[in-house]
Amino acid sequence: MPGLRIVGVKVHVLKPQEFTGEATRINVPSALIRIITDEGVEGVTMLEEAVYAEELVEKFKTIKSWLRGVEEFTPLIGVDPFDRERIEKSLWHQYFFQRSAPTVLCALDECLWDIAGKALKMPIYKLIGAYREKIPAFASTQSYGSVEDYVKVAEECVEDGFKAIKIHPPRYWRRDIEVCRAVREAVGDDITLMLDPFHAYTREEALRVGREIERLGFYWYEDPIPTTDIEGLASLCRALDIQVLTGENIHDLYGYAELVLRGAADGFRCVDVNVGGITGMLKVAHLAEVFGMSCELHSWGHPWQQAAHLHVMLAVRNCSFFEMPYPMGIFDQGTRDTIRIDGDGYVHAPRKPGLGLDVDWSEIEEKTIKVISWPD
Ligand SMILES: [Mg+2]
Repeated sequence: MPGLRIVGVKVHVLKPQEFTGEATRINVPSALIRIITDEGVEGVTMLEEAVYAEELVEKFKTIKSWLRGVEEFTPLIGVDPFDRERIEKSLWHQYFFQRSAPTVLCALDECLWDIAGKALKMPIYKLIGAYREKIPAFASTQSYGSVEDYVKVAEECVEDGFKAIKIHPPRYWRRDIEVCRAVREAVGDDITLMLDPFHAYTREEALRVGREIERLGFYWYEDPIPTTDIEGLASLCRALDIQVLTGENIHDLYGYAELVLRGAADGFRCVDVNVGGITGMLKVAHLAEVFGMSCELHSWGHPWQQAAHLHVMLAVRNCSFFEMPYPMGIFDQGTRDTIRIDGDGYVHAPRKPGLGLDVDWSEIEEKTIKVISWPD
């Protein structure tokens, strides 16, 4: 075993990404985060919002001496990067990172997994324990102005080789039903369809739309009503046969337990920045597995985020699809190791060690606004 020690953290704050296509994301500076070890192995990931990465460094820099004395607090510098559970338990401390804890933890956790993979020369999914080598992808499409546009994009997805498509509808329930009917008619019954109205409906509207997409043979119904309407979700799950998924905006691990206990989801959605990275996603996926539920991971994001989710998807049994941002490549930056589908609509396991992405340093240097380091 390598006897590695963490010696520093470096954050490259990047210019806001200039999106091509119709990406709906906010345009704020993102950040490349590097955790550096004494033997030169570096863990690297990216955060969509640099503010969290800057906070990570600033808070470590200004830790009050009394906190250093708290038994559970683990300073990052000098610690073995393989001690993930110990480091991360310490960072959940509410008085230290407070509400930013899951996002900050996500960046650290994914760097630590990247270090582990690179040190042992293995891709992360193998390190966790591989379940498969490839997974089908669905095209995660955006919101469009007309029914015709939805049909056109769905047909393009099929031409590109996707066998599954998720619709983000206009979020007016009658129009949404029109969109679902038109897309189903255009792509035929062999294409898997999902609907994600992103919490748009009342309970009554959710039931009406749910009954219709059930009739149209949709595969999942995601976030029809707010995740906090536990009672509404539970009654929707009882009323519909189609699987109702929710959870991607739960900001800690414990919210998932509530969904299980109240019968308020047939399966989970889960995103790394809300549950503390790969380690958090594994915990949520395993919780779901015990209750016979799916855990569909939310890989809509930049290449590092896509890779982190992909490694977990390849190492758990209860995830059925990779979420591919559509058009493919809209979030690519900072690396040439991009994730794409093959001719059958599958995404394959990364082959390089760790997360499997090499940094394109010339692009990162060109986009870097400032670099912050700890220790200085
Ligand atoms: Mg969603």
